[in-house]
Amino acid sequence: MADMQYRELPHGGEKISVIGLGMGSIHEGSEMEIEKTLELALENGVIRHLGLSSHDPEIIRRFLDTGLIDMVMFSINPAYDYSTGDYGIGTASDRGKLYRECEREGAGISVMKPFGGGQLLNAKTSPFKQALTKTQCIRYALDRPAVLTVLPGVRNSQDLKDVLSYLDASEEEQDYSVIGQFTPQNADGICVYCNHCQPCPKGLNVGMINKYYDLALAGDEMAKGHYDKLEVKAGECIQCGHCESRCPFHVKQEARMQEISRYFGE
Ligand code: SF4
Ligand code: SF4
Repeated sequence: MADMQYRELPHGGEKISVIGLGMGSIHEGSEMEIEKTLELALENGVIRHLGLSSHDPEIIRRFLDTGLIDMVMFSINPAYDYSTGDYGIGTASDRGKLYRECEREGAGISVMKPFGGGQLLNAKTSPFKQALTKTQCIRYALDRPAVLTVLPGVRNSQDLKDVLSYLDASEEEQDYSVIGQFTPQNADGICVYCNHCQPCPKGLNVGMINKYYDLALAGDEMAKGHYDKLEVKAGECIQCGHCESRCPFHVKQEARMQEISRYFGE
């Protein structure tokens, strides 16, 4: 990274930063003019890959539609996904749809504000009136489709150690299914891929199977290939009801496994 450079392209009042290694990043702004500037920069080889950061799903979506975006920085945590907090823009289902659209378009998401600016870590400030741990918030963000990395702010070495402890955390420590208690009505019954319902007696990875199915429905051409690589497919579900009885999000998983099996043909 020794030759890393940072430039700002001249462009009215808006900022377009170009970081060395050919990655350009936009932070919101008036899209038509920005789009023109970026196309020019791409044509001239100043930028080889484009990134965009925004808190607004509609802005992300409009830029995704240009087909120019490779990377998205977006604020993701359970509070924002449930339409609460400063940047809780969009409904739970619309935000989930956005993540699937990013995956389909091959745009990786880097997550900002995974702890909701720290509010989620404290019962007094959390909109859920219950604290989550950093580990739970990181796992939640990593489970969303298209998410490649989570970038929490760190103020000191202790913050950094706290974040890195995620790497040694057990499955129980990572389990964020407690948020099922706060699920808004419009998100109830939707699988969030948390795998709290494990273990499945037949060894089905319920979260992954559901994620690949949702991605396939969203038009992600790679999803079928990922599904094919799973050792145990939805068709092997014996309808025992164990997962359904354990799911805090009230997902009708037995019926869903039949639907998924029909869709993929196994
Ligand atoms: S069925 Fe429920 S518990 Fe299982 S992965 Fe989906 S949301 Fe989580
Ligand atoms: S209902 Fe199917 S997916 Fe769920 S635990 Fe039983 S066998 Fe596994």
